[in-house]
Amino acid sequence: MKATKKQTDGYAHEPPTVQQLTTMLSVHKVRPSQQRLMILEYLLTHHNHPSVDMIYNELLIKVPTLSRATVYNTLNLFLKAGLVRVLDIVENEARYDILTDFHGHFKCNTCGEIFNFRVIDEALVSEELKGFGIDDKNVYFKGTCPKCLKK
Ligand SMILES: [Zn+2]
Ligand SMILES: [Zn+2]
Repeated sequence: MKATKKQTDGYAHEPPTVQQLTTMLSVHKVRPSQQRLMILEYLLTHHNHPSVDMIYNELLIKVPTLSRATVYNTLNLFLKAGLVRVLDIVENEARYDILTDFHGHFKCNTCGEIFNFRVIDEALVSEELKGFGIDDKNVYFKGTCPKCLKK
């Protein structure tokens, strides 16, 4: 298991145990398999809003028999089960987010990384939206991350 990277977004990145992963799948009525557990673990320990290819390329090192279709199908299954959601901050590429609670995203236009930040949901309620039914809320910022600004 890979050591957790130090991140600054305030979310826990501790590597989950196999038991925790299995329970998480069961709660969402997804039958656990070796590959599903691996993909779930990747999502929980990275928080980098990966694409299918990002997950596939990294897991292929550990599991040479893994197919891209398996990763794609697993993410679709997770999506239907409500385990992940898809971000539409990146054009023409589905990026998956394991954090389904409300939070904002900052996309760096230089390195392409997508960062999480906490947003106070209540601060977004507007008087002008009284009487509207809201299905989806997104907070997207784009710009340059601190690392790229230093270059
Ligand atoms: Zn950057
Ligand atoms: Zn996110």
